[in-house]
Amino acid sequence: MSAEAASSSRRGWCPGVRRPMITGDGLLVRIHPPAGRLTSVQARMIAQAAKDHGNGHLDVTARGNLQIRGVREDSYGALVECLDEGGLLEPEGDGPHRLCIVSPLAGLDPQERFDPLSLSEAVEAAAPGNLPAKICIAIDGGGSILLESVGADLHVTATDDLDAVAIGLASSGGIRWIGKASLESVPSIAGTLLSSFVEMRQAGRTDARRLLELDPGLIRELEALVELQPASPPCSHANGRLAGVIDLGSGGQAVLAALPFGRCESQQLTRTADWSRDFGNDEIRLSFTRGLLLPGLAEQSAQRVADEARFLGFILDESDPRLSIQACPGKPACAGAFRPASEDAVRIAQAASHLFSQGASIHVSGCGKGCAHPSPSDLTLVGREDGCYGVIVSGSSREKAATYLTIEDIMIRLSSLNAPGDMARAFRKDPS
Ligand code: SF4
Repeated sequence: MSAEAASSSRRGWCPGVRRPMITGDGLLVRIHPPAGRLTSVQARMIAQAAKDHGNGHLDVTARGNLQIRGVREDSYGALVECLDEGGLLEPEGDGPHRLCIVSPLAGLDPQERFDPLSLSEAVEAAAPGNLPAKICIAIDGGGSILLESVGADLHVTATDDLDAVAIGLASSGGIRWIGKASLESVPSIAGTLLSSFVEMRQAGRTDARRLLELDPGLIRELEALVELQPASPPCSHANGRLAGVIDLGSGGQAVLAALPFGRCESQQLTRTADWSRDFGNDEIRLSFTRGLLLPGLAEQSAQRVADEARFLGFILDESDPRLSIQACPGKPACAGAFRPASEDAVRIAQAASHLFSQGASIHVSGCGKGCAHPSPSDLTLVGREDGCYGVIVSGSSREKAATYLTIEDIMIRLSSLNAPGDMARAFRKDPS
């Protein structure tokens, strides 16, 4: 099948290696490495392929996948062969190529209450085979990288009770914690919820493609099926890590090198492969926080890698305001974009840095699809055909805008605010 035929049959679905997506800068090929992990050899091969067959730009996605941008139609076949040889061709089929998301530190983090990776394998084995492609489950062992913002449909999160996990369902108002369960029962509970959701779709009771799109009545029906014990709140985390050197106790140290809005150049990936081979354990983990994690480093090596990574354009400082903004590439990279979302996000990072230090979250989206962040943010900006942004306060890109403003107006209003709580007043509907 040609790249064009493969992609056109999947519009509206998740791209992969077998089925690329046509975007404004050529074909986009998304790689789903098993468990989000690459060897240094695989990473170097992908970086080279991105230069040879694409435009050298890559993205780490909000689900910890890696996509090659700007692939030429006449080069697509050679790229697929190359990725297949590297063991990076996903299985045939339309289902989610990765159902469960875990922390990139899974199995290494001394704070974890259970091993999220083995639980995710059990959950994936219990899930029905005919799920819509975008369904996602977050399995959070209670470690130092938080998964609440990942935009999953179903959350399984450690609690302060070592024998129990909290189960949550996504809703338009955030995560709704519906009860607690033993670790052993999680695969069966997830299997019941997902199978019942598929049956609702097959019976024509809903056309939702995600649990988070389900009507409240159907959500209550699902909750009743699993009969959970009253909810325990998830365990209290310290602030989640987004970048920098992370101490893993007897496991040495890891460097989490964040990428501004997930954008990565091929030379950055090549250099990361070198660090992993020379100083780490030859493993690179893709982080849903939009970064690359290198585990297994000695203390001195970790500092050296962090310094070099900063020099190469990675973010190592957790107070960097770009870490508080989610943004898709926007124009010109995406054919569906009305605004240059990444460029605008950099301008907003400068105008609103005082708000980010108080915990504000902002999502800049080139169009209403909201690819970069399906969950609510304090402020969501949705690009429009007229060149303005629809402005949504405390909501996601799916919600109705309170007002429509140019990027310049938005920056002026943001720079005059004292606190994130002032956003509702600053962006209330303009009288017309
Ligand atoms: S949100 Fe819209 S503009 Fe941004 S990447 Fe997705 S489709 Fe493209």
